[in-house]
Amino acid sequence: MSELLISRPSDPADLVIAGARVLDPRGDLDRAGDVVVRGGEIAEISAPGSAPEIEGAEVVDGEGMLVTPAFVDPHVHFRVPGQEHKEDLQTGTRAAAAGGYCAVIAMANTSPPIDSASVLGSVRELAEREAAVPTGFVATVSRGMDGEELSEMAELRDAGAAGFSDDGLPVASARLLRRALQYQRLAGGVIALHEEDPSLSGDGVMHEGEVSAMLGLAAIPSLSETTMIARDCSLALHEKAAIHVQHLSARSSVEAIAAAKAAGVRVSCEATPHHLVLTDEAVRSLDARFKMNPPLRAEDDRLALIDGLRDGTIDCVATDHAPHALEEKEVPFEQAAMGVTGLETAFAVLHTDLVLSGTLPLELIVERMTAGGEPFEIAAPRIEPGAEANLALINPNLEWTVGADGYESRSENSCFAGRELTGRVLMTVAGGSVAYRQRSFAMGVAG
Ligand SMILES: [Zn+2]
Ligand SMILES: [Zn+2]
Repeated sequence: MSELLISRPSDPADLVIAGARVLDPRGDLDRAGDVVVRGGEIAEISAPGSAPEIEGAEVVDGEGMLVTPAFVDPHVHFRVPGQEHKEDLQTGTRAAAAGGYCAVIAMANTSPPIDSASVLGSVRELAEREAAVPTGFVATVSRGMDGEELSEMAELRDAGAAGFSDDGLPVASARLLRRALQYQRLAGGVIALHEEDPSLSGDGVMHEGEVSAMLGLAAIPSLSETTMIARDCSLALHEKAAIHVQHLSARSSVEAIAAAKAAGVRVSCEATPHHLVLTDEAVRSLDARFKMNPPLRAEDDRLALIDGLRDGTIDCVATDHAPHALEEKEVPFEQAAMGVTGLETAFAVLHTDLVLSGTLPLELIVERMTAGGEPFEIAAPRIEPGAEANLALINPNLEWTVGADGYESRSENSCFAGRELTGRVLMTVAGGSVAYRQRSFAMGVAG
């Protein structure tokens, strides 16, 4: 897909998925067919039952199943180096594969942060041995994520940084971001921004609104996000640089992005499944599984995110997969770590709550879930002859309970734990190789 993405070597797939619904919204492809994969490449999409026999190929009965291009997540936290007790490249990329992802971009707020060519080189080397799906790494904007001194952006870009981000933290200094944007224009690699004004967020732990007032908890206003988006879009416009706004959460932020795009700012943005289907009402339970940053906001914000996804103001879905150890979550809400896992549930959550409810069409969800590489100049996977095989095989009718069989991720801080969902990824082909097979899903080899 791109030299920015790295995975461990594995055998190219020889595979026939027979008789499935084959859906690639970018190619206006939506019909029953046999998808033929030979040597890791899509050889053809033939009429049902007419696929050629390939010696030694696995034949999968796709009757009643859905095949889509595999998904691309522009925003995950794999905790390498330094916090491998939460996640590492093996468990993180296995979780990605289990969610139907063929590529992910890992954030740089590790310990130490990915702020030098040597740290970047070591995680890229590790990915060559451990990553089950192609993985890209962003480097930090500021050295040590201190928000003061710029990292060596040009050198980091040469060393393979997919882009730049201090995610976990905002780039609070406008002066620093302006300089980063000047480098970005020269060196390439988008700057991905966690938008938050620390002076407005303070020590807030949830969305500022009726629920926070009722619970008496310190809160983070939507303004904290929106004012920074407006500031950063102005800077990007002035410097003619490219930015990607992460995890949009508020109606006013969707409006700010729409205005910036209309004004010609080179800006893209993402929204997460949890912000698209949950609100701060969930926080009434004081269950720390619903604590993340930005926080779950009000119903009106959620509806604006759905509209933004529909009309293209929001370019892609990102999970912000943020694994945490149990002891960081099993404490009072105020003290709990911020962040939730999301790779293994993203498709099923959006399928259950947005597609089956009739809110958004399946084609649109697939399009936005496969578009996550585009801000990083990584083309979306396609189902067409000659393309590298990047496929998700999905049973759209399979009902399952989140967490009932455990998780592929090392952490289990899912905000959807215990939820009944409909639709499950059975198999993922990533970078031309079979990267995942759901446990209940048997394999059959012909020839
Ligand atoms: Zn963030
Ligand atoms: Zn994040």
